[in-house]
Amino acid sequence: MNYQKILQEIKDEVKPILNKGKIADYIPALGRVNPSHFAMSLSLFDGRTFGVGDVEHKFSIQSISKVFTYSMAISHYEKILHKRVGHEPSGNPFNSLVQLEYENGIPRNPFINAGAIVITDMLNSKYKEKTFSKILDFIKSVNNNQNINYDKEVASSEAEFGYRNMALVNMMKSFKNITNNIEDVMDIYFKQCSISMSSSELSRAMLFLANHGIDPITKARFLTSSQAKRVSSLMLTCGHYDASGDFAFRVGLPGKSGVGGGIVAIVPEHMSICVWSPGLNSKGNSLAGTKALELFTTKTGLSIF
Ligand code: GLN
Repeated sequence: MNYQKILQEIKDEVKPILNKGKIADYIPALGRVNPSHFAMSLSLFDGRTFGVGDVEHKFSIQSISKVFTYSMAISHYEKILHKRVGHEPSGNPFNSLVQLEYENGIPRNPFINAGAIVITDMLNSKYKEKTFSKILDFIKSVNNNQNINYDKEVASSEAEFGYRNMALVNMMKSFKNITNNIEDVMDIYFKQCSISMSSSELSRAMLFLANHGIDPITKARFLTSSQAKRVSSLMLTCGHYDASGDFAFRVGLPGKSGVGGGIVAIVPEHMSICVWSPGLNSKGNSLAGTKALELFTTKTGLSIF
């Protein structure tokens, strides 16, 4: 298959909609991104990579970080993790408070904000003051790349305007589902959302999930195959919040989005993909990014169904 040609076709076809989405502007640092950016990267098991557009441009990974933190937590807390966070789609926006109250502070899944905050709390119990550097180390190792960091300006903006996330964490603390100090947990959560990576880096970083938990290039094992199955299953059912069904219907791959405009997806036993376009749809997922992935699975026939 001529992947480079297919990526180029996709880039041309989504061009007219790049400016149709809305840039995340809940914090000023994200609102300044140029909406006409586009990048799409593929990583294959044999080390070959393909890409079009701004593939080396670093952007804010935001909720894509939840895939990494859930992967870290599931390998340490496999038996007890899902007593504190569910594994069902929420059918609600990523930062919704409503369901959390009537479900007694147990978030529906690790990929909505509340669920990711509980996961960060669990990692904080294990790693204490080293938690954020352990998260960065994990991402560096799945990416086989040391050049990953977070954007301090985005992180402090997240903290300054994080009213809703603070409401979520306080509500969960009142239900005793947060065990550490709220300020410590949120400092880590805001930093993990503010990690900057390029589409070529993110696509490389997802290869272990496409290969049952083992990096196909370095052969390092990060998860058991059962754990990798769980992470990928939740990406399929919960990776796009209340648009997860729509994403599965249109794209047919496990994927995870972030409000920075990135989406990662995996084709099990074949490849991993990242697409970046900062304009979002009404559910907070990249508008042109979702379309690009839909075009990719339609043109290549590579989906899990
Ligand atoms: N930093 C964002 C928030 O916590 C992450 C949400 C997202 O990417 N969907 O609101």
